Amino acid sequence: MSVKTSPLIVPVFLPHAGCPHRCIFCDQRSVTGTATAIPDAGAVQRAMEVYAKNRDSNNRPVQIAFYGGNFLGLPKETTHSMLAAATRFVQSGRVDSIRFSTRPDTIDDERLSLINEYPVSTVEIGAQSMSDRVLDRSRRGHRAIDTIQAVRLLKKFGFETGVQMMVGLPGDDKKTVLHSGRRIAALAPAFVRIYPTIVLAGSPLGRWYTQGRYHPLDLDGAVDLTKRLLILFHSYRIPVIRMGLQASADLETGSAVMAGPYHPAFGHLVYEALFFDTVTTRLGAHPPDGSIDVVVHPRDISKLRGLNNRNLQRLSDRFHPHQVNLQSDPGVDPDSMIVNHHCCPLYGERIDTATSGASS
Ligand code: SF4
Repeated sequence: MSVKTSPLIVPVFLPHAGCPHRCIFCDQRSVTGTATAIPDAGAVQRAMEVYAKNRDSNNRPVQIAFYGGNFLGLPKETTHSMLAAATRFVQSGRVDSIRFSTRPDTIDDERLSLINEYPVSTVEIGAQSMSDRVLDRSRRGHRAIDTIQAVRLLKKFGFETGVQMMVGLPGDDKKTVLHSGRRIAALAPAFVRIYPTIVLAGSPLGRWYTQGRYHPLDLDGAVDLTKRLLILFHSYRIPVIRMGLQASADLETGSAVMAGPYHPAFGHLVYEALFFDTVTTRLGAHPPDGSIDVVVHPRDISKLRGLNNRNLQRLSDRFHPHQVNLQSDPGVDPDSMIVNHHCCPLYGERIDTATSGASS
């Protein structure tokens, strides 16, 4: 699957700005590492100053991104002033375009007409789940139908549309997660992000956890579910551009994490599991009588090896070969691997939405 060059993001964090209430799992202060602040146009200038100091775009497109809140939930005049401040950097040629994240229930004709006069190219919707029961229990305050309508409208206006979803929300299980994944895939977004639910100390979910009302997924369970979603979205040729929260200082020190499947390299763990599965599936039918030889594209060698060479050890423990050789070769397709001289695709076959219950 060819993926467009990913843009260099200049983030402007607006923790909880424009949010109608606090969703059960959310604490943007610890996720973004930014104190709650009243959004002002100066935040764009400050973000650009940080970017200028560390500038290394390598010719990638540059986007100013408003993250951490509900951008279209801001008062109209604030939305205008933030977009106007960002637009000045686009007009000067230092930035290519603007993106933001917002709730699905803030997308309507009027608001999209309002932002249409600015160089906004990308809008990310926080869908989180496509199960109304899970959305209710997570105190999202919107329904799955809002996400469906929002994606349709954003596409009609011509915005590149991304969707964020979560796994392990209150009321979630394997069935609801995969059901949500299929419904989101059926909407054909330009990309998705997948976040495991973490119990953040500053979130309402932290109280539920303390009271024994919520039990998070363990790390292996979250990796397995996210891997299944990755395979699903890949089968629809939908890029998964992030899996797991970006590490912030509070997350890294552990001060913000009460419980749950937080790992600073969560996405890497998902790929590690996918590569291990592919090798073992192949070898399951053809057990090695000598060595295990696996060759992948150079881009994928660290995913094949796993953190601290764990996959190498696991393969040794599982099959007891004389030797395990994990190597890279630029001639191998990044979406496949060669296992003992046989080519194996990394991802499964397309799943038909006709049987998925998707309503779009
Ligand atoms: S999940 Fe989004 S809408 Fe909910 S509180 Fe967090 S930033 Fe606001």
